[in-house]
Amino acid sequence: MLPFALPDAPALATLRAVAEHRILILDGAMGTMIQTLGLSEEDFTDGGHVHGPGCRHHPTDHPQKGNNDLLSLTRPKAIEDIHFAFAMAGADILETNTFSSTTIAQADYGLESAVHDLNVAGAQVARRAADRATAEDGRPRFVAGAVGPTNRTASISPDVNDPGYRAVSFDDLRTAYGQQIDGLIEGGSDLILIETIFDTLNAKAAIFAAFESFARAGRRLPIMISGTITDASGRTLSGQTPTAFWHSVAHARPFSVGLNCALGAAAMRPHIAELSGVAPTLICAYPNAGLPNAFGQYDETAEQTAEQVAGFAQEGLVNIVGGCCGTTPDHIRAIAEAVAPFAPRTVPA
Ligand SMILES: [Zn+2]
Repeated sequence: MLPFALPDAPALATLRAVAEHRILILDGAMGTMIQTLGLSEEDFTDGGHVHGPGCRHHPTDHPQKGNNDLLSLTRPKAIEDIHFAFAMAGADILETNTFSSTTIAQADYGLESAVHDLNVAGAQVARRAADRATAEDGRPRFVAGAVGPTNRTASISPDVNDPGYRAVSFDDLRTAYGQQIDGLIEGGSDLILIETIFDTLNAKAAIFAAFESFARAGRRLPIMISGTITDASGRTLSGQTPTAFWHSVAHARPFSVGLNCALGAAAMRPHIAELSGVAPTLICAYPNAGLPNAFGQYDETAEQTAEQVAGFAQEGLVNIVGGCCGTTPDHIRAIAEAVAPFAPRTVPA
């Protein structure tokens, strides 16, 4: 069945209704919050044994510290509490802790076999936090299944002596993303968020895989697409301007398109303005808390980030805002308060 002939997931109507009259709020950085927990190797592996649901065992001899996605299985309450803190700070949309939950990214940790469990558990943990927050204040919350770029690029050679070489193919990515998105849907995601896109070809594989997953699930989830400007000339790593990027992903008819990561809000502004001028769908911006210092930490305060993001709203450039690296629940609370007086951008016909 063609993807657009499938029935829409139930969350879409509610999301559209909310987006009509206010700017939606996305959560902040999971990684920054996990760092503050000061977890050890033992915490990551639950004492050396990684168990999936139903006591499925995932043997691995790789060190797991830093494999943040694994905590959805081994420290689910800690991850749920981080999601809950973001939800109570004002986030409408919670991103699952699944940025690296593909066989391609988990190969670094020898945990390819855990990918299905990581995505199901990642979505379930976020779902529990979302439902807890809704029970507390009555506001709907939405779970966005987060799909990262993986650590390989399909359009650029990593070997300067062999420009034709590719470390990953479109079909490898399509298969890996399909496994991930099946798990995210099974775990209860409302949307699929393809984010931190540095290579548009990787994203196109994720879009294709999402359509195939939707066909298997029998319903179409809204897709959010978020690119990353990594080049001083205002392009993605694969060389596209924001306008070119939009035209490369428009066939997905995404619920939103936007930018995240790499830049603080001030540097992101002209690129968001460009997307806003060309894309007839919702615009989503979630910058980092400024640029990292010499130690890789982000120093921008909640108020500083919020003031800049409020500028996007004041100019009528955005429909969804949140934070990427370095943003805490305090940043999200400040952003939600700062954009509240402003109407969402009018989506061009
Ligand atoms: Zn980031």
